[in-house]
Amino acid sequence: MMFERRVTRSVNVGGVQVGAGAPISVQSMTTTKTADVEGTLEQIYALASSGAEIVRCTCNEVEAAEGLARIVPRSPVPIVADVHFQYRLALAALDAGVACLRLNPGNIRKEQHIKAVASEARDRSVPIRIGVNAGSLDPDIEEKYGMTAAALVESAKRELNYFEDVGFEDVKISVKASDVRLMVDAYRLLADAVDFPLHLGVTEAGPPPGGILKATAGIATLLNEGIGDTIRYSLTADPVEEAKAGRQLLEALGLRERSSLDLIACPSCGRAEVDVISIAAMAQEALSELDLPIQVAVMGCVVNGPGEAKGADLGIAAGRQRGHLFVRGQVVKVVPETQMVDSLVEWAQKIVSDGVEGALAAADKSAEAEAEADRAALLEEQGEDANRSDAIVEMIRKR
Ligand code: SF4
Repeated sequence: MMFERRVTRSVNVGGVQVGAGAPISVQSMTTTKTADVEGTLEQIYALASSGAEIVRCTCNEVEAAEGLARIVPRSPVPIVADVHFQYRLALAALDAGVACLRLNPGNIRKEQHIKAVASEARDRSVPIRIGVNAGSLDPDIEEKYGMTAAALVESAKRELNYFEDVGFEDVKISVKASDVRLMVDAYRLLADAVDFPLHLGVTEAGPPPGGILKATAGIATLLNEGIGDTIRYSLTADPVEEAKAGRQLLEALGLRERSSLDLIACPSCGRAEVDVISIAAMAQEALSELDLPIQVAVMGCVVNGPGEAKGADLGIAAGRQRGHLFVRGQVVKVVPETQMVDSLVEWAQKIVSDGVEGALAAADKSAEAEAEADRAALLEEQGEDANRSDAIVEMIRKR
């Protein structure tokens, strides 16, 4: 674990532990009508296979609660019911057997209603997420504190007090905003005030790629400070993109083990011997179909590529119309340029089936020498200054 995590209580969401040092979990939310049981289950399965470990479904009408009763027993992951305005739908979702509720304190405001739900959840040992949202804050809190981090935290605390009055503390909390700075400040403030596990998200982040950037700015900043126990990207996109983004972020930060392909590629420069962008895109497409949990590098030249990407499980670098395939920095085969992508796929499968050691043992004995000859020839042709930087500097000086 790279970051020291904030110490929190533990909440059990249908078998997925959240908080108290458990792996940070990825959440997403279905976009189907919950009453459409088959359509919703299809999306839940797609989300689960893309990395979502907890899935939320709206419970906005009685038909949705009835749908949940049919979805919950068939779902591969725990289901959270998202409830706004109508506390009776929260009670109905509990009847349906959901693993967790999400309540919005901004729109279920009557004390007796909140306590009725918390009491029922307590009796059934079902946790609740207090889901504060800057866009739907309790008006009297907004009036008193303005649209500030303190207002978001105050809303969560007020809900907590109602819960504590009925002896219910099985809680996780979110204080989301679409403004990244506000969201970050609110979570920091909340993390100092309570020890409940926190669900991170930038709400209404928007469509990718801007939405992914905004959500990552907020979520990653907090995760790097050890804050956050479960995350959700709120994207205006197929929710599968949310699950993938969440998973990728956790893997990129070293907070979860790699479970899928991580394709890295150089940005290309004057030394590039191939069109790195199109080769990387072809490799991404071909390898994504296999969904192998390895890091693969596509590098534009053999002069710097294998060295710069020596940490990758597998890589290929271009030079003199050939591709140098390397495993953890060691060249294992030299192939014609037209076979670069096919060879990557073949060796990726070899690594997954035989391991890195097995792939290295299968290396072509003459590959290292062939690769070194290509490299030396290119250096000879291009010199050290393939980008012509020295020549350009000279030209500038003469002006
Ligand atoms: S030096 Fe080679 S590996 Fe590095 S960016 Fe340029 S082409 Fe890519």
